[in-house]
Amino acid sequence: MSTAEDRLPPLRDVIATHGLSARKSLGQNFLLDLNITRKIARRAGDLSACDVLEVGPGPGGLTRALLMEGARRVVAIERDARCLPALAQIAEAYPGRLEVIEGDALEVDALAHLQGPVRIVANLPYNVGTELLVRWMTPESWPPYWTSLTLMFQREVAERIVAQPGSKAYGRLAILCQWRAEPRIAFDLPPQAFTPPPKVTSSVVHVERLDGPRHPADPARLERVVAHAFGQRRKMLRQSLKALAPDIVEQLTAIGIDPTARAETLDLEAFCRIARAL
Ligand code: SAM
Repeated sequence: MSTAEDRLPPLRDVIATHGLSARKSLGQNFLLDLNITRKIARRAGDLSACDVLEVGPGPGGLTRALLMEGARRVVAIERDARCLPALAQIAEAYPGRLEVIEGDALEVDALAHLQGPVRIVANLPYNVGTELLVRWMTPESWPPYWTSLTLMFQREVAERIVAQPGSKAYGRLAILCQWRAEPRIAFDLPPQAFTPPPKVTSSVVHVERLDGPRHPADPARLERVVAHAFGQRRKMLRQSLKALAPDIVEQLTAIGIDPTARAETLDLEAFCRIARAL
């Protein structure tokens, strides 16, 4: 019996037929090897009872993998209209399981198209990816509508997401992503995995949300403390946090934090303690 995938042309033919030459301005580095895209789809978890939000499907390599791996439904947002005919062909091969929205993922209200539970999966241009990650990590209330994120980043950004105190990569992104979620680097992909190859190694990062924060704190206050602390990461806390409280030395001492410590040595719990105190 032929499968839906058997009825679709190879991705290289899709690209040739629809003239999908990669555009640098749209951060287009395509994944054409189904073994790789299926590995990403599997890392996202059990998709059979989920809607998957895919951002930037392009010619549809990852989209096809998500459907092959059993996603209940995929909602895909793509900015490049040239990709729409190729995506329509996939929708036809998987009736009722793929909805394609033409638009900018930074502007489209994806939630209106989704039914929970939702997993988000994307191989995105790096600048858009980081901006979306920050938005997904800062919803108005927690838990957010998504249960997991499986996203491609430059290795260097992935390291910032999972960084621990004391490392150079540790900063705002680590605290934002680790306070209410569990991020992990799933695996790396060399430049040759993509067409055309980017300049650097990429990493797939998988983030599972937690039901609530690891340590209590008001999100806006925590963000303010972290922004000030890492805004001047080489300075001691008594200096970098002075703008938040004139008596910062006394306040930090009272909660057991050394005012001469630097931001990169403080763990998540310590930042939450400061946010609660100030
Ligand atoms: N997912 C495909 C793959 O793995 O082969 C394509 C990946 S390519 C790195 C990024 C895709 O995101 C491109 O198709 C590009 O047109 C699309 N894109 C770029 N910016 C976007 C945006 N703001 N909103 C939606 N899609 C975007």
